[in-house]
Amino acid sequence: MADILVSASGQIARVGETGAISPDTLRIDVSGLAVAPGFVDAHQHLDKTGSLKFASNPSGTLQGARDAFAAFARGVTPGDVAARAARTMARCLSRGATAIRSHINVDKDAGFIGINALCDLRADWADRLTLQLVAFMIPHPRQDYEWLAANIDAAAERADAIGGTVAVAEDPARYLDILFASAARHGKPIDLHMDEHLDASRHRFGLVFERVRRFGMQGRVVLSHASVLSAIPDGEFARISDQILELDLGVITLPAANLYIQGRGQEVLPPRGLTRVAALARAGIRIATASDNIQDPFIPTGSGDMLEIARWTLLAGHLHASELPLAYGMISHVPAGLMGLGANYGLHAGARADMVINDCEDAERLVAGGPDKMIVLAKGRPVSEDAAAA
Ligand SMILES: [Zn+2]
Repeated sequence: MADILVSASGQIARVGETGAISPDTLRIDVSGLAVAPGFVDAHQHLDKTGSLKFASNPSGTLQGARDAFAAFARGVTPGDVAARAARTMARCLSRGATAIRSHINVDKDAGFIGINALCDLRADWADRLTLQLVAFMIPHPRQDYEWLAANIDAAAERADAIGGTVAVAEDPARYLDILFASAARHGKPIDLHMDEHLDASRHRFGLVFERVRRFGMQGRVVLSHASVLSAIPDGEFARISDQILELDLGVITLPAANLYIQGRGQEVLPPRGLTRVAALARAGIRIATASDNIQDPFIPTGSGDMLEIARWTLLAGHLHASELPLAYGMISHVPAGLMGLGANYGLHAGARADMVINDCEDAERLVAGGPDKMIVLAKGRPVSEDAAAA
């Protein structure tokens, strides 16, 4: 590959061709280098990011994190949300993530402060970053379903998808009905925090599958975490996996969160806490991997580097060396598909010119060790240096 031509509107005009170009077309010489499409981080929490020092979680548990953030959210301002989110967005962009989907709490504690602030950022950053927002309707505090039902449509209007956290709902059937009905009313997809526990006796897959069929949401629902699948016996897992495939549901594994939060208190043979990454991927299910939280009470670490996340997924998900390309797909075309980016994503003519130009000879090496040199382009413009300085 020698040249990539980028149109004035920031789309790829031609790849690998030379010849005459119009004056407003940008020619990028990539000879001797490899080009990957921009990485896709399909699951973050930009309303929470960077809040670690204000919301500590000494227990390191999920409930500890939820309580710490709920208390913090009651005093948060729009300016604070925007500043923390923008810093993380800039770091992610500088490391090659040109599309991010973020869940944003909408509940009695956070109200609409987070989602309103992120709506503004989504518009302000549209020339650099494809940002999708999930209205994360939390059954918390006090499991106030009336509040959720009364406010979900206003949240859905602002968001790109509807989300929630199924395992903490005390009335999951009623809760899921609220989410699915709103998604159907607004024609929006659903992205669920399915579970973050390893208790095989309580999972909610059947309730979700029934609603996917009832509301005709096949191909439009993503199940995040799904950690409990690693605790479920093989026969039952196979039945659930078959349903996920049949209904064309996506799965997003979040290794940082699972490694950090799951298995607290289990001193001997602590579990990895991830879903059955290898089995799901080999079954042909669309499974992506993502950052989840970055430097907040849920996960104290996080750099926004999707190559790091892909590496952890391969190791913690017990993939093989031969599956390095699969891990690469989990931060590129698979999450792009789950986010519905369609023809805007990729390295073909007409796609957004979001790309990671690097000195790795193939995708395997990119995931395995990362590049020594890397330039990130967003809509054809370099953003790595700018973002790093932000
Ligand atoms: Zn999450």
